[in-house]
Amino acid sequence: MSAPSDAFAPSRQAGLIARAEALFPGGVNSPVRAFRSVGRPPVVLSAGAGARVRDADENWYIDFIGAWGPAIVGHAHPRVVDAVRAAALSGFALGATSPSEVVLGEAIRAAVPSMERLRFTSSGTEAAMSALRLARGATGRDLVLKFAGGYHGHSDGLLVEAGSGLATLALPGSAGVPAQVAASTIVVPINDLDGVRAAFVAYPGQIAAIIVEPVAANVGVIAPAPGFLEGLREVTAANGAVLVFDEVITGFRVARGGAQARYGVTPDLTVLGKIVGGGLPVGAYGGRRDLMANIAPEGPVYQAGTLSGHPLTMAAGAATLALLDDHAYERLEGTGAELEAGLRAAAVAAGRTVAIARVGSLLTVFFRDGVPTSTDAAMAADREAYARFFRAMLDQGILLPPSQFEAWFISLAHDRELIQETVSAARTAFRA
Ligand code: PMP
Repeated sequence: MSAPSDAFAPSRQAGLIARAEALFPGGVNSPVRAFRSVGRPPVVLSAGAGARVRDADENWYIDFIGAWGPAIVGHAHPRVVDAVRAAALSGFALGATSPSEVVLGEAIRAAVPSMERLRFTSSGTEAAMSALRLARGATGRDLVLKFAGGYHGHSDGLLVEAGSGLATLALPGSAGVPAQVAASTIVVPINDLDGVRAAFVAYPGQIAAIIVEPVAANVGVIAPAPGFLEGLREVTAANGAVLVFDEVITGFRVARGGAQARYGVTPDLTVLGKIVGGGLPVGAYGGRRDLMANIAPEGPVYQAGTLSGHPLTMAAGAATLALLDDHAYERLEGTGAELEAGLRAAAVAAGRTVAIARVGSLLTVFFRDGVPTSTDAAMAADREAYARFFRAMLDQGILLPPSQFEAWFISLAHDRELIQETVSAARTAFRA
């Protein structure tokens, strides 16, 4: 295994990037992959194994992108590969309910009991969009409240002050979203319970739902302030609004039962994605039985998908969830704590001021003083300093998320040795 010696040398990877740029806007099929905010060409990844990924020039890296969340058991885990291979032998999508949908659905419900009934989709975007359509259909109300920097996919009404790629590109929203649609979304700062209460006073009987990432992870990691999630539960219950937890990142990540288990607050609807598909395209939404009874064909809220509940995805998801026992979460917590402590010590040794936010195996190194509790505070981090750190880490064979505002994803395949290697690289990189 070797770290890249000269990332800018003519290479197979550079050729692929040039061809991709001629094909895809920004050379990518999802904006953050373009590496725009870290000031160097992107990587083209051709393989993953455990906690490592390999680029098209055969350089291996210790990976903290983790497929943006799904790779919690490591890349190409043999059990997951076997499950997908076995499923593929029976054909792909068959256009009817398959046994594997029932198996994965029951596994999810067992871990997240608030999802009394659920639906699979092909992406987190679809799942979040569908959950809100359901909330609107069930309440007969139009407005939705979200939080600044909360990312819930790229459907029109949710691309208002969203995080993820929008934060990276410093865009307030997206062109092409009709003003009337944007106007149906109310945006309140993260952790601002007074702001939420004020919105319910300003729009009495009009707010269908609050949608929240219970641990914000698309402006870097921001943990919920004590009482925040409980407060959202109270306000929605008191006003007949639906509380939606978007656990696309936190589901099966911060605990087997997600953030709702970790913080002990039960939403009406939950949105899942990423891990439950084991790295194949997936989303899911579900919750209270009476709410879910509004979904077609039982009820009047329409939602569908040709490839929903795809047998390969279901197989990968079920095999992944089967590996996530109590021991797995203890290990993820331990690895996260060790990485956090190591990075902190490395920063101190380098005389560099950073704040490390961590919830379990989700972590962000903010180049600022003090762990942010709001999106504004997170956005005040020094992006240039992060970009220098990112490049110095990449040069030493460590692949971090290519943005100050994305979480690092730790997997079960990150062992003590890889964490030590990462920390030792950080000692050098913090001086950059
Ligand atoms: N919700 C959250 C919290 C997310 O982080 C994401 C994607 N990163 C989504 C929704 C959208 O999921 P997808 O990219 O699968 O559409």
